[in-house]
Amino acid sequence: MTARMRLQPEAIGMGMTSQRVRDRLIERLREGSPGSRAIQNENVLNAVRTVPRHLFVDEALAARAYEDNALPIGHGQTISQPWVVARMTEALFEDGVAPKKVLEIGTGSGYQAAILAALGLEVHTVERIGDLLRTARKRFRTLGLNIRSKHDDGRIGWPENGPFDAIIVTAAAPALVDALTEQLAVGGTLIAPVGGSGGQSLIKLRKDADGNIERTDLAPVVFVPLLSGMVD
Ligand code: SAH
Repeated sequence: MTARMRLQPEAIGMGMTSQRVRDRLIERLREGSPGSRAIQNENVLNAVRTVPRHLFVDEALAARAYEDNALPIGHGQTISQPWVVARMTEALFEDGVAPKKVLEIGTGSGYQAAILAALGLEVHTVERIGDLLRTARKRFRTLGLNIRSKHDDGRIGWPENGPFDAIIVTAAAPALVDALTEQLAVGGTLIAPVGGSGGQSLIKLRKDADGNIERTDLAPVVFVPLLSGMVD
């Protein structure tokens, strides 16, 4: 991945996407800010430093790619705010054994999946909008990322490939989706925004050896809704 990134001087050399601008985002995440607690996991910070977020948005928005904001990616969807991506990712590594196999619901731009892959996880991701998934797959190919993806309604998860050590849901639902909780391995962690369209709570679930579920509220967040069905 690094070698390929060096082959793109037109993108890397440009002021607004330069390594200096990208490092500034890392410092911001590391320090935290009111409402956004500091990201402490160095591997996660490194993944954010390495994955070129400007390649996951339209060229016209590339100059804003290293601000800590969500950005539109078309079809009324957004690439999540870097802090949210970092926090969700960090939350997967907080307890006990590091996950290996992860399922993401809501591929969108592909950025969150790329961050997980950069951390060495075996990534499965599901997206309901075919057009977004096609674009994300091109990015994975360009960056040499080996990510399994499927065009489907992610509310059914990916039962054939489960159970998963970690599940990240990147679209909001009023309640947790049972099919996904069922596909979580023992000792696994599920992160999902739960709540209505006005705003949600980022929830972390842990499944213990007896199948008991422990629930923690991580932060208030705002995600686009988890919708049913598929579109091209
Ligand atoms: N993780 C993405 C964030 C994308 S926004 C990123 O890093 O860019 C949320 C995404 O979830 C959108 O692309 C939306 O189409 C998708 N989505 C919403 N409901 C879904 C469902 N039921 N199954 C799969 N994807 C869904």
